Amino acid sequence: NQKNRTAVITGSTSGIGLGVAEALAADGCNIVLNSFSDTPEDHAAARKLAAKHGVEAVYVSADMSKPEACRALVKRAVERFGRIDVLVNNAGIQHVAPVEDFPIEKWNAILAINLSSSFHTIAAATPHMKAAGKGRIVNIASAHGLRASPFKSAYVAAKHGVVGLTKTVALELAETGITCNAICPGYVLTPLVEAQIPDQMKVHGMDRDTVVREVMLAKQPTREFVTVEELGAFVVFLASDNASQMTGSALPMDGGWTAQ
Ligand code: NAD
Repeated sequence: NQKNRTAVITGSTSGIGLGVAEALAADGCNIVLNSFSDTPEDHAAARKLAAKHGVEAVYVSADMSKPEACRALVKRAVERFGRIDVLVNNAGIQHVAPVEDFPIEKWNAILAINLSSSFHTIAAATPHMKAAGKGRIVNIASAHGLRASPFKSAYVAAKHGVVGLTKTVALELAETGITCNAICPGYVLTPLVEAQIPDQMKVHGMDRDTVVREVMLAKQPTREFVTVEELGAFVVFLASDNASQMTGSALPMDGGWTAQ
């Protein structure tokens, strides 16, 4: 039934992940919050979410750059709640640099966290979803899963990879009652985007306001940021029964970016 669903959201202590967790909790899902840290605040955030929405919520520390940790996160969720209904692969990092200077360790970390983690969590979750005859996988890709921008070689490569993984998994699972989709947001004002502003200012030699309007939102025709609430509502829809025939899609929510 719709009531006792369990949702696992990777990288959900801030930004889009936390917004998606809030929206799924408001929709009645029990929640597994995740990041790589393990602080009292992390566990308090889960208790706060549970109390606010009248659901159960736990925080599970797992570093999404590590294959075993990705798989262990899903295992812990199933041990705790007995099921996994919704898997949202959201954890992601960014680094901006010209390709010839791009640090190798940043390339490796971005590919591991932004792409490979989804492979590992999906591999761990699908046996449980297959046994239940139902499941929802939502990968938070990006407009950069469909379009490129300079100085973001690792991020654009990883996000295009997420779109490819999404399509493949959707086809493999097409007759199982499990759907797999990617959401491709344009710019959302989260800590990840805040952190890019100084780098972009340096690369382009612009002040903050100019870089936001002329560089970051230049490709977003509405010139407005997407909000985490809007993305949360989108994930709630994809997790619902009405979205049963949506699978293998890369779905933009990008203020018109990919219309160009
Ligand atoms: P954010 O930095 O606010 O949040 C990222 C989350 O991932 C945090 O909770 C962080 O703790 C977690 N995380 C980072 N490294 C991790 C690791 N190794 N293991 C586990 N968790 C880890 O970023 P955000 O803007 O909310 O981005 C979330 C996702 O949305 C990312 O995949 C990002 O690429 C994607 N996205 C963001 C935007 C945007 O404009 N903000 C646009 C398109 C796509």
